[in-house]
Amino acid sequence: MSPVSAIAQTPDTTANDSEALSAMPGVAWVVGNRGAIGMTITDPDAHKRLRRDELSASTAFGLDPSNCAVGVVASRLIKRNDGLFEANQLGTAAHAVLEYLFGLDKPLRTEAEAVATVRRLHTDQEFALRFVDKGLSDQIAALEDDELARWYAEVDRRALGLWGIEDPTAVNVHSTEMAFGKRFDRVVKIGRVPFVGFIDRVDKIIDPATGETTGYVVKDYKAGKVKHADRYGDDYGDQIRIYKVAVREAEGIDPEGGSLLFIAYGVEREVETDEESVAITIARFERAWDRMHELADANYYPAKDGPLCGWCPLVNSCPSAAKNGRKDLSDTEKVSGKRVVVEGKPKQGIPAVDLGIPIVGAPHVFEAAAEEVQQAEPAIAPVAVDAAHRSVEPNKENNMTATATATVRVKEGMNRSETHVETSLNGNSFAAIAAFDFTERAVSELAKAGQAVTPAAVKGLAHTYAIIVQTIQAELANSQSYSEGINCRIRSALATSIDTIPAPWQQPLEQWNAWAESVTKRTRAISNVALALVTLGSEIPASPWAALSTEGQTAA
Ligand code: SF4
Repeated sequence: MSPVSAIAQTPDTTANDSEALSAMPGVAWVVGNRGAIGMTITDPDAHKRLRRDELSASTAFGLDPSNCAVGVVASRLIKRNDGLFEANQLGTAAHAVLEYLFGLDKPLRTEAEAVATVRRLHTDQEFALRFVDKGLSDQIAALEDDELARWYAEVDRRALGLWGIEDPTAVNVHSTEMAFGKRFDRVVKIGRVPFVGFIDRVDKIIDPATGETTGYVVKDYKAGKVKHADRYGDDYGDQIRIYKVAVREAEGIDPEGGSLLFIAYGVEREVETDEESVAITIARFERAWDRMHELADANYYPAKDGPLCGWCPLVNSCPSAAKNGRKDLSDTEKVSGKRVVVEGKPKQGIPAVDLGIPIVGAPHVFEAAAEEVQQAEPAIAPVAVDAAHRSVEPNKENNMTATATATVRVKEGMNRSETHVETSLNGNSFAAIAAFDFTERAVSELAKAGQAVTPAAVKGLAHTYAIIVQTIQAELANSQSYSEGINCRIRSALATSIDTIPAPWQQPLEQWNAWAESVTKRTRAISNVALALVTLGSEIPASPWAALSTEGQTAA
C-alpha cells in the first residue's frame, strides 16, 4: 500500500473539516517518534502534482538536499493571491516591459519607450495580456489613481535600471523568451532530465569589422537584490549554466557565456560557464530530479530547520519551526547587525489557522518512509547534539557536557554501510562515524579557541562542516552518502582547511559567510588536486617543484 492510500484510509489522523477551507489543502504535517518532522500529501491529486515530467531550474534548486523539502510542496500547492505591489509581481511587470522593448528595432529601445510601455500595461489590456497572465493584467487595469503613480514608479525603477548596465539600442538580440518544454514544442534534456523554462534573452556577439555573428550569450533579468554564490548555493548561477546547455541542445549553438542582469540595481553579474562548472550544475540538476522522485515515492518531505525559516510562508504552522523557535521575520530588515521591524512591510507567513494543516502522528508506514528518506539523505545524524539541544532552555548558555543525554536508540550492526539496524542507529555505521567526527571536531575547535562549548555552537559548527563536505561530495561524486570512501577523503581535506583558515570567532555573520566560503573553496581545491594526482598515476610532469620557485610563482 502506498503512503498516500495508507493515509487516506488511516482513521487516527487529525485531519478534519477545516482542511476544506485550507490555503494548502491535501497535506498534513508528520511528526515522527524519533524527531523526524516533515510533510505528507493526503490528496492523491495533489500528490501527482509533485512528480513532474519536466524540471525547471528554480524547482531544481528547491529540491537541493540543503533546502527544506517542504518548500517544494509549498511552492507547488500553496494557493497564493499576490498583491500588485509584491516584489514578484513588480518584477513580472518590469520583465514584460523589457520583453516588449527587445522585440522592437534597436533605435526604438529607449527609456522613454520603456516608460510608455509601463503605462500601456495599464491602459491597454489586450497589450498587457500578451506579456502577463490574466490575473495580473486584471489587477493592473483596476489600479486607481492614488495607487497608479506608486505602481508606475516601482515598475519604472526596475525596468529603467537596465540602462545602468547596457545600452539596449546596441544589443543584438538572437531571441527573447525562448521557451523550452513539451508545451512549447522545444524538448531538450539537461543531462538525463527533461527541461522546462524560459530564457529572457539570448544575444548575438557580432564582429564590428565583418558584421558576422561570432558567438552568443545568455541573459537573465532579476528584479530582486544582487545575489552571488554563497553557502546556500548558487541557484542563479546554475540557472544560467542550465540555460547555456538548453540553447546548445535546442539550437546547436553553444553560448560562450551568460550573465544575470539585476535590473533594479543596475548591476550585471557574469556567471562562470566553463566545462567543469557546467558539469557540476548538470550533476546537481540530475540529483534534484532523482530526489523529486525519491520524495514522491516515500510521500515524505522532510522539514529542514534553518535561518531561512523566517521567510517561509509556513513558519506559523510548521512543527519544526515551533520546535526551533523560528518566527516570521519577513517584515524585518537588518540594521547594524540586528533585525528590526519595518513599518508597513507585510509579513509573508500565512496564519496557521488559515493554512489549517493537520498533524498526523506517525502511522508506521510513515516511520518507514521517513527512515528511508533519512537514510537516503545525509542529514547530520541527530544523536548527541540534537539530544542536548532538546534539553536546553532557549537563549540560555549551557555547558554541553552537563546536558547531553542521547535518547536515540543505538544498535551494533555488522555492515558499516547500513545506517540503521531495524529502527535503531547502527553505531558501527559510516554515518555514525561521520556524525561523531563532525561533532567532536566542533567541540575541539570551540574549546581550543576558548569559546563557550554550548549545544547551539556545537550544532552550528558541526552542521557547517557537514554542509561543506556534502557540497563538495555532490560536486565530485553526485552523491552525499556517508558510506562512500570519498566522503571520508573530503572530511580529511576539510580538517586541513579548518587547520589553515582561522575561524572568525565573535565576528558578525558576514565574516562567517566569508569563512565558510573560503573553507569550502580550499577543501574543494585540496580534493581536486588530490583527485588529479590519482588520475596522473606515474605520469607526473618533471620537476613539479619548479612551481614553488620564484620563477614558477611569477609565471603562475
Ligand atoms: S518553517 Fe522552516 S522547516 Fe518549516 S517548512 Fe518552512 S523552511 Fe521548512
